[in-house]
Amino acid sequence: MERKESPIIKDKLPPRLACLEELAYNFWWSWHRSARDLFKQLDRTLWATTRHNPVRILLETPQQNLERLTHDPSFLRDYDAVIRELRQEIQNGDAWYKQTYPELYHSPIAYFSAEFGLHTSLPIYSGGLGVLSGDHTKEASDLGLPFVAVGFLYEQGYFRQRLDHSGWQEAIYPPLNPKEVALRQITAEDDACGAILVDVGDRTICLQLWEALVGRARLYLIDAGVEENAPWDRQLTARLYGGDHEMRIQQEILLGIGGVRVLRALGIEPQVWHINEGHSAFMVLERMREYAAQGMGFDEAQRRVRASTVFTTHTPVPAGHDAFDFGLIDKYFRDFWPQLGLDRDEFLALGSYDAGHYPAFNMTKLALMMSDHTNGVSELHGQISRRMWRTLWPDRPVKDVPIGSVTNGVHLSSWTGAAMHRLYRRYVSPDWVQRQDDPMLWSRIDEIPDSELWEAHVYLKRKMFSTIRERARQDWINRATPPEQLLASGIFLDPDALVVGFARRFATYKRANLIFQDVERLLRLVHDPYRPIQFIFAGKAHPADDPGKLTLQQIYNYTRDPRFGGRIALVEDYDMHIARYLVQGVDVWLNTPRRPNEASGTSGMKAAFNGVLNLSILDGWWAEAYNGRNGWAIHPETETDGMLDQDQADAGALYNVLEEQVVPLYYQRDRDYVPRGWVAMMRESIRTVGPSFSTRRMVKEYTERYYVPALKASMALKSKARPAMEAVEAPAGN
Ligand SMILES: *Cc1c(COP(=O)(O)O)cnc(C)c1O
Repeated sequence: MERKESPIIKDKLPPRLACLEELAYNFWWSWHRSARDLFKQLDRTLWATTRHNPVRILLETPQQNLERLTHDPSFLRDYDAVIRELRQEIQNGDAWYKQTYPELYHSPIAYFSAEFGLHTSLPIYSGGLGVLSGDHTKEASDLGLPFVAVGFLYEQGYFRQRLDHSGWQEAIYPPLNPKEVALRQITAEDDACGAILVDVGDRTICLQLWEALVGRARLYLIDAGVEENAPWDRQLTARLYGGDHEMRIQQEILLGIGGVRVLRALGIEPQVWHINEGHSAFMVLERMREYAAQGMGFDEAQRRVRASTVFTTHTPVPAGHDAFDFGLIDKYFRDFWPQLGLDRDEFLALGSYDAGHYPAFNMTKLALMMSDHTNGVSELHGQISRRMWRTLWPDRPVKDVPIGSVTNGVHLSSWTGAAMHRLYRRYVSPDWVQRQDDPMLWSRIDEIPDSELWEAHVYLKRKMFSTIRERARQDWINRATPPEQLLASGIFLDPDALVVGFARRFATYKRANLIFQDVERLLRLVHDPYRPIQFIFAGKAHPADDPGKLTLQQIYNYTRDPRFGGRIALVEDYDMHIARYLVQGVDVWLNTPRRPNEASGTSGMKAAFNGVLNLSILDGWWAEAYNGRNGWAIHPETETDGMLDQDQADAGALYNVLEEQVVPLYYQRDRDYVPRGWVAMMRESIRTVGPSFSTRRMVKEYTERYYVPALKASMALKSKARPAMEAVEAPAGN
């Protein structure tokens, strides 16, 4: 296989700056401040207008500007330093993993996910799951894991959101131009089609392949948009979570089965396979098929696959798990099960699960049955998952159901605002990024003077405001947005007053509208003449989720309701770019899921590490992180049963905390206008969340508790089984 280069940029760059191409084509730049600053220096305007996309900056910068920079000693000094840093890190063989597990360094770990959120310029994510996969990949690079990730290149990416004059969400699908993103096409020397073929029902689909470099890690993206495929088959990788069940099963065949074939075609031999959410679980079937083709019996093949497979489930509600009608399984797997040596019933039994209505082929069950190493994404979610799937282990008590938990984390250097980063470097440690999971280090947070910590926050808050205003201005210019609609965008917000942010997917369980339960009470908070409170909302509803869109519309209507006096804003088109400004710039990060529906949540971690205080239901990660001093819990005094009662009780608790604690603390200022009590809470939040809820902690935990045991187990099986592969037969099932 060969990597196609981009001739345009290569021809354009002066030889002295030739390595800019290497830098732009490795997402490494996106979490290294010095590299980001270099591209910003190259052209500040393009940096803003391309929404921080170095490939486009290099494509669009006039050549004479590049030539001029070759005579700019300060730029050249920075350039040399960044390139040195990049090279050192990419080639550095001493990273944590190699030091800790030198004997495992050459055994690749494969990670499959339906979405990856690496950067806004590559919109192949829809929300938390994708951002988590992206952050996981970046951290795997930092820690030096032999890591290779597999996902989809969606030609139309995830949609851009626009609200019409009535606040109804419209989805726009601007085509993704792979040439304007840090992607390289991988082709076989002799075959334009990439030579990766997958049978989907009675058709054979041809896949092309793209590679994204993520520091030391690699991400391979599957793409069915090639001429050899029928037009409807090219659509299979067009959109993220588009289409019906039939489309979905075909996509999942491409990801699971196609993904294994991709790695084979590349000559990569993973020793551990991580299924990140059930979408990619068909991978186990393909690996079973490979073993069967070598003549191995079903039970031994299953034992090997289980030993080397890690599965992470993300969904705490039964209906949220992908499941396919047996009719669809018949249609797409009829020719497959004989290859495993199974009949129809035996095959269906691998995934058959009745989530309440009738049995269907459940991707989570398939993954659970085929992995010896499985986990939920927070302690609470681990418990919920053990209870939810207990019927799969009927003779065990719930606590012994073999589903563990690894709480999610965020990639700190990707999400930390520049102002905070500077403070941490100066007062905590110049190498805080390298030592971020040392809890002792973060006691040094006390070294930062109150006023400086507060000023850094105020700076980030202003940056958020200027971003929001500039967006509104551009919308007004480009779309002639009616002034009335601009009211929604936050132009009336007061940067000095308390700002509460709520930004995430508009799934109904997240209850974006909880704060509007008692409008009169909210109005009193908003209009307090001395201590007003303001709200910024952002988020997309899934294109097929009408209740989610209704919630969005409801909030849009409040933004324009004169009773709220412009103190409620709805920022359109939430994505990683706008998320960055919001998690760094608001004062309070509000999260109101219907417990226990939030498996983990991660946006609050990003906020906490930037000194933004969490105000959240005790669900997901916050149930673990909250200590009474590092933010606030929305915790009703009475337990309720019904959903509506629960909403009411939670809303009541939310108003109470706002009125009695959040607002008074924010406005309690000293002579220098610094809110000392608030700043103390910011410190506590940074100190307790930073080292524990980072991907540094998370990926180390996956490595120690999942990847390494899986590696060792599968190696042991292989060496033991070699003499007489077929001789040992163990009972099937668990
Ligand atoms: C972090 C992030 C999320 C996850 O948010 P939750 O509140 O944890 O659901 C979703 N979308 C984007 C763009 C993010 O950056």
